[in-house]
Amino acid sequence: MPEEKERMEEKPEQVIDYLRISITDRCNLRCVYCMPAEGVESMSHEQILSYEEILRFTEAARGVGISRVRLTGGEPLVRKGAVGFVRMLSGLEPGLKVSLTTNGVLLSRYAGELREAGLARVNISLDTLDPGTYRSITRVGELEDALAGLRAAIDAGLEPVKVNVVVLKGLNDDPLPFARMASELPVHVRFIEFMPYFGEHGKWYVPSDVIRARLEAAGKLEDVESPEGWGPASYARMKGAQGTLGFISPVSCHFCPSCNRLRLTADGRMRTCLFDRNGYDVKRELRSGASGERLREIIVDELERKRAEGDQKPPPGAHVRAADHMSRIGG
Ligand code: SAM
Ligand code: SF4
Repeated sequence: MPEEKERMEEKPEQVIDYLRISITDRCNLRCVYCMPAEGVESMSHEQILSYEEILRFTEAARGVGISRVRLTGGEPLVRKGAVGFVRMLSGLEPGLKVSLTTNGVLLSRYAGELREAGLARVNISLDTLDPGTYRSITRVGELEDALAGLRAAIDAGLEPVKVNVVVLKGLNDDPLPFARMASELPVHVRFIEFMPYFGEHGKWYVPSDVIRARLEAAGKLEDVESPEGWGPASYARMKGAQGTLGFISPVSCHFCPSCNRLRLTADGRMRTCLFDRNGYDVKRELRSGASGERLREIIVDELERKRAEGDQKPPPGAHVRAADHMSRIGG
């Protein structure tokens, strides 16, 4: 009997089925919460995994239960051949779901081709709808380019189109323009808590509850169930709206136990968490001719490590020494 009780109290197996791949450390923007003004020293061509190497790794990951892949960066669309790579990944059998996180600046050029190459869904990072604030946050960007990308994604039939907003106190912490956007367009806006990964934590951090309260003060919010595979956000909808409003709260809310992600950085390190300080040097294995079986073993060991180590997130308010720049790890 005690044995049976013990079994019943065991934690459910943490399913890790989602791989985020940073395909480049380069970016055409310099967002204040992600990069220093001078940018980050670019890695050499040799340091970055080739598409063929990423494909070999992904095939192995597919063999141990990864069913969804998200391409990120840096800005993934600045890497030459990104559309062709989406086509290669989408062709991996049995059906891998491929998505993309982009700042949207180049999306008006590529949305149609990406859809045709097999891309299903897209997340666009767009932190404000005010041109001046957009320039202040991205340092170099034009709001109109990102908005054109967003429109192109909708027109191309990418579905769902999500908008990521990293909320920064005093800069873009009025959520109402985005609530109007989600009313008028079929987009799902997610307000993300700024993580103290880079930049000024105390000065910028706004908890999700504050944003939600501001939205509730403006109109009734109905909670909606988060569709399967929509990540750690909780979602709500304004009455009559086409899209939804989501809240991603990596700082104020503890979602590590349900985290389903594995990450591959542009320079070929496998990380089990954004705050994983070491990671595993997959590039060395790939370049020394590791077989598919060896790669699968390594991934399984790392997944075990993730489950065993559990929460690697520092406590709220702690000063975080980043293991690497977010633009290299991929967010
Ligand atoms: N360049 C692409 C983009 O901006 O969507 C992909 C890479 S970017 C590093 C991926 C995600 O990380 C973006 O949604 C970005 O907003 C988020 N991010 C970067 N730094 C962050 C921080 N300090 N706190 C919270 N999110 C952050
Ligand atoms: Fe570039 Fe994305 Fe980082 Fe902004 S958040 S600097 S777009 S990698």
